[in-house]
Amino acid sequence: MLVRCDGTRSGYQLLCNGSVYQCVCGHTGCVQSKTATCSKQGFSVLGQCVACGAVGKHTLVAPEAVGFRRTLMQDPQTS
Ligand SMILES: [Zn+2]
Ligand SMILES: [Zn+2]
Repeated sequence: MLVRCDGTRSGYQLLCNGSVYQCVCGHTGCVQSKTATCSKQGFSVLGQCVACGAVGKHTLVAPEAVGFRRTLMQDPQTS
């Protein structure tokens, strides 16, 4: 199960529910085909981050991946 965008689609007042991606800069958001389509849009259809402008640097955010990163950061050399 993937993380879903909880932003609102502009003009529709509907839950976005799109897949959420994370940029190398840490910015997260969904990908929309038009600019400012979602209140939490993170990337353009070309994969350009709205925060830092990097293109194609976003990866899909999934709960498994988030948990894996958290484990790596909070469990240093203890086991
Ligand atoms: Zn969205
Ligand atoms: Zn970015």
